[in-house]
Amino acid sequence: MSGFRIDADRLRDRFDRFNEIGATERGGVDRPALTDENRAARDLLVKWFAEAGLDVRVDGIGNLFARREGRDPEADPVLVGSHVDSQRNGGRFDGVIGVLGALELVESLDDRGRETDRPIEVVSWTNEEGVRFQPDMLGSGVFAGVFDLGEALACEDREGNTVGEELERIGYRGEPVEIEPHSYLELHVEQGPILEDSGISVGAVEGIVGFSWLEGRVEGRADHAGPTPMDARTDALVPVADLIRGVRDLAGRSDDLVGTVGSLEVEPNSVNVIPERVSFTVDLRSPSDEAVEYAVVRVEELVERAARREGAEYTLERIMHVPSVDFEAEIVETVERAAEATGVSHTRLRSGAGHDASYLAGICPTGMVFVPSVDGVSHTECEYTDWADVVAGTDVLCQAVCERAGVEF
Ligand SMILES: [Zn+2]
Repeated sequence: MSGFRIDADRLRDRFDRFNEIGATERGGVDRPALTDENRAARDLLVKWFAEAGLDVRVDGIGNLFARREGRDPEADPVLVGSHVDSQRNGGRFDGVIGVLGALELVESLDDRGRETDRPIEVVSWTNEEGVRFQPDMLGSGVFAGVFDLGEALACEDREGNTVGEELERIGYRGEPVEIEPHSYLELHVEQGPILEDSGISVGAVEGIVGFSWLEGRVEGRADHAGPTPMDARTDALVPVADLIRGVRDLAGRSDDLVGTVGSLEVEPNSVNVIPERVSFTVDLRSPSDEAVEYAVVRVEELVERAARREGAEYTLERIMHVPSVDFEAEIVETVERAAEATGVSHTRLRSGAGHDASYLAGICPTGMVFVPSVDGVSHTECEYTDWADVVAGTDVLCQAVCERAGVEF
């Protein structure tokens, strides 16, 4: 036994064909959840799943499951997959390699005529990215019982379309699917610089940092930018500028806290009008939940002080909180053993980005395999991973799933 070896050419061919859907001029893809492009991507997946002889089902939130039976059909299945929705003008690797890698696993098993003890369920989760519909990781959150299905279906995009209507429109609103996973494994790009900087091909992920999102609004008074004296203004943008500086100063000091003001809406957004209303978001993350809590309190103080200085009103609320997750040691070790067996260099690390695996970890032993992101970049069209690393990561994923599902390689 010398470890699992996938058919790298088949995977590459699938990867290229898949990424023709929603391809952008600058080499990325544009396939946000439940768009026409996302439907086309789903259609192609379903076609490939069916060609591989898998039993395909769609659940109430549009998650796709494709099952390969095991020797013991009663055994809880090993779940393996990721997501195929993308950011707007996002990258080709994020999510996609995890789903196509899982498909490659079952085809490679078929090539060799190998059975597993446990069934394998390939999964593609709905709306991981949270671009059109918030919250993100919606499909896995419903599956894991974190979100109520009815509430999830009622989430609206900016045009007022609901998740339920859009699932219906693209033909992917299914029925509840009963699956009790034995374990869950996901291959994903790191989206950070650690693996590339250290020249290592695979990360055995120990856990995922926690995060909180805040959404706020400052109300000032619109007036002419010319005749209004500086001391007679209530400019809604000035306190937000103070906040942005404050978040930058707060983050990076301890506990690996990172903080970002990533979205602003300025009204009326005119060159010669004093800003009347500014909406903003704050994203705070750290491996330490206490550090995130502390930062939330500090941000509340920052906004309060900055608004008071300007004489402006404000609102601020927390719209999302996901605690940090520690993966179970046994499955981190499964990934390490898989890297050893396939001869791939590996190290342990922690994910700075949220993943569907965050929610799965609440219901079953969960692990992730990371491959390097060139320059640590993701969520853009120039996101890139060396193909040799994708292949190595997929070998490791397959080897790890085989251990969990009960077949030796
Ligand atoms: Zn992703």
